[in-house]
Amino acid sequence: GEVIDAPVVIIGSGYGGAVSALRLCEAGKKVILLEMGLNWEKAGIPFSNLLKPGKSSAWLKKKSIAPFMNIFSLTPFTGTLDRLDFDHINIWVGRGVGGGSLVNGGMAVTPKESYFKEVFPDLDAEKFYNYYFPLVRKELKVNVIDEQFLKECPYYKFTRVGEAEAQNAGFKTMRVPNVYDFKYMEREFRNEVPRSALNTEVIYGNNYGKNSLDRTYLKKAMDTGNLEILDLHRVDHIKLNDDKGYTLNVQQTDTSGNRIADKSFRCKKLILAAGTMGTLQLLMQSNAINNFPLNERIGKNWGNNGNFMTGRNWVRPLTGGTGSKQSTIPVGGIDNWDDDEHPFFTEIAPLPMGMDVATALYLLINRVDKKGEVSFDHNSRSLKVNWDESNTANMKENARFFIRKMNKANGGTRSHFLFHNGLGADICYHPLGGCVLGEATNEYGKLKGHDNLYVLDGSLIPGTIGVNPFVTITAIAEYCMENLISQNEFT
Ligand code: FAD
Repeated sequence: GEVIDAPVVIIGSGYGGAVSALRLCEAGKKVILLEMGLNWEKAGIPFSNLLKPGKSSAWLKKKSIAPFMNIFSLTPFTGTLDRLDFDHINIWVGRGVGGGSLVNGGMAVTPKESYFKEVFPDLDAEKFYNYYFPLVRKELKVNVIDEQFLKECPYYKFTRVGEAEAQNAGFKTMRVPNVYDFKYMEREFRNEVPRSALNTEVIYGNNYGKNSLDRTYLKKAMDTGNLEILDLHRVDHIKLNDDKGYTLNVQQTDTSGNRIADKSFRCKKLILAAGTMGTLQLLMQSNAINNFPLNERIGKNWGNNGNFMTGRNWVRPLTGGTGSKQSTIPVGGIDNWDDDEHPFFTEIAPLPMGMDVATALYLLINRVDKKGEVSFDHNSRSLKVNWDESNTANMKENARFFIRKMNKANGGTRSHFLFHNGLGADICYHPLGGCVLGEATNEYGKLKGHDNLYVLDGSLIPGTIGVNPFVTITAIAEYCMENLISQNEFT
């Protein structure tokens, strides 16, 4: 196949890849970014909504893969949402130019400073809270819903009910910022613009309103003229060259997943930003294929960010249910983090199914008391996640405590309708770690044992951060890039 020479290649266009691209392009570097998913904006194909899953709804699958209620058959297409299935955990990831930002709920939460310090004792927390976090909130266009709109909008009844019930039960509630443009949402509600969040769009992409990375970091990087994004380019494996640069073995596909070309990219500098699972897969697969050098910390200190889903049903809802109309964008949370016995944070999640199901859905984020580990199975050439019920024991305990307390104060039962026993231990949206900052890498993300390879994505965070992770992933990437550039790593 074709051989392409490039000074810097980035693999993956999620948060880590987008930050790296912008900062390198601003510094005048020519950058090639390889993304296995589709460039949806360029393709001009609309995203589908929850009620009518179509092309964008799943990565090359015959059936939709929402966490529950998948009755839809599909023609395989390079959709935005993928699910990686392991023995005791299923991990959802985003695919396409923008990575996870295309499919996620947009919740833009800065971690608690005390927990950030516990997770990253070696980082300068003051600099993060005074500089990197404010910087990324600005770049990502984080904003907060207007309280009056929240109070009046029928699409947020689920949040109002959820908060009132939590307060009844003695929990502390909090407002959650988001990258979805709430001024746009207000105009949606008034029917002045096309609807997106109010039209059940979210995990298969938003056609309007959401400031995903293609509208923020990646757009700015493209505007410099220094960035070339090649979509539908999947890196299969990496080889270390004698000159200490890298050759990437890449397959270009069409939107049905068929291979249409094999290409090689030769680069001096390589940034791995394929997301926690993608980066680990690439490193370990390359090792299996050509003995690619790995250090012994790779795969260690991995976790699910304490993700645990649960839900409640009301037999006879005192509240009249959560409403048949629901915005897909969560704005409410319950903060029980400071409870020593049951520390958790939970999102009051929407369940926009077009009918009043009198069901409330919660995504808990807990501490990860017992970390897992990722390894490689040479026979199947796939990752193995060493993770079972023992890793989620504390999370289950918290979920039961939470539901019990909520039901006691407000009525209701555990939702068997959503999950087995009403407990979704195996649902993970936030895989983190395995290539931890300062362990598998140096203090700025340069992989140990390599001269020209940098890891900049969720794998740098040691398995837990206590809140939804993309604000932290973005801030860590900014911190690493600033230091790597000033140390002349890319000159
Ligand atoms: P990613 O965003 O995962 O990007 C990696 C990119 O690399 C992908 O586009 C992928 O296609 C590409 N790639 C992988 N392997 C290859 C390869 N071999 N070759 C080429 N390209 C490759 N977080 C929050 O903070 N708030 C939320 O509200 C929230 N909601 C979520 C909802 C859902 C349904 C999901 C799935 C996640 C959610 N998250 C949320 C998590 C958040 O989206 C992720 O933590 C974040 O996207 C991870 O960023 P990243 O830079 O590590 O990689």
